[in-house]
Amino acid sequence: MRDFSRDHSALALNTATLGHNVDGFGAGWSAEQVIDGCAARGYGGVVFWRREIGANAAAIGQWARSAGLKIAGLCRSPFLVGPLSPRGREAVLDEFRSSIDMAAALTAPVLTIVVGGVEPGTKGMSESLKIVADRVSVACEYAARAGVKLALEPLNPVYGGDRSCLVTVRDAVDLCDTIGADNLGIAVDVYHVWWDTDLPAQLSRAGARRIYGFHLCDWLADTKDVLLDRGMMGDGVADIRGIRKTVENSGYDGVCEVEIFSKDNWWKRDPNEVLDVLVERFRSVC
Ligand code: ZN
Repeated sequence: MRDFSRDHSALALNTATLGHNVDGFGAGWSAEQVIDGCAARGYGGVVFWRREIGANAAAIGQWARSAGLKIAGLCRSPFLVGPLSPRGREAVLDEFRSSIDMAAALTAPVLTIVVGGVEPGTKGMSESLKIVADRVSVACEYAARAGVKLALEPLNPVYGGDRSCLVTVRDAVDLCDTIGADNLGIAVDVYHVWWDTDLPAQLSRAGARRIYGFHLCDWLADTKDVLLDRGMMGDGVADIRGIRKTVENSGYDGVCEVEIFSKDNWWKRDPNEVLDVLVERFRSVC
């Protein structure tokens, strides 16, 4: 397991931590300001959301390279199924392809997939997961031609209805096995997996070749909002170091991306303060 106590070169910022991906929140820093703030502090990477990139993917990618900062990924695909997804298979695939194009232009190696919830007119997860398998399979071929990897991110089961019918690492690895594409893997987010006692066995199934991302935050024991009240690392009940050990024992050696949705706490603070606290917590509790 890597020692981060005096080295945060593996620390990456997911810009959700600054609130920029939700209307009305965040300090309004431009993508370039975010890159410069991370580079100045010795971060190893940054992960943007599509809404921050717009038509400027190539220029922002160039800005990051000039600053010596890696763009570690892009969030995220459209929802592929469920009540929040675009209507119909072709509309979903169109937006999926344009997300892949954006990742390629940005030179982000990985596009995260959040699959969406239960398809209207169906019950339970099985039918929706079949639809997901079809759409991801089509997108994998397109992404392979663009040189982009796709990372299925299982979400905490609290989001099962509307945001993700994929709620366990087990099901995510099963989907990878079913689809069998070389550029399809998983993203492991502490917020979504901290409760899962089967995690070591499932991550060992996934192995290094299928773990494309590791996301850091914490689960607050008295969380007020399961979407927008994530905790800073060290403030909650997740065994962050234990999970990282499991992820790294499975062969992952990439960046660790801090992703904290926190509308009443961290999003209200100066981004400079947030970026400094991340470095300190990364070294002391991750
Ligand atoms: Zn995540």
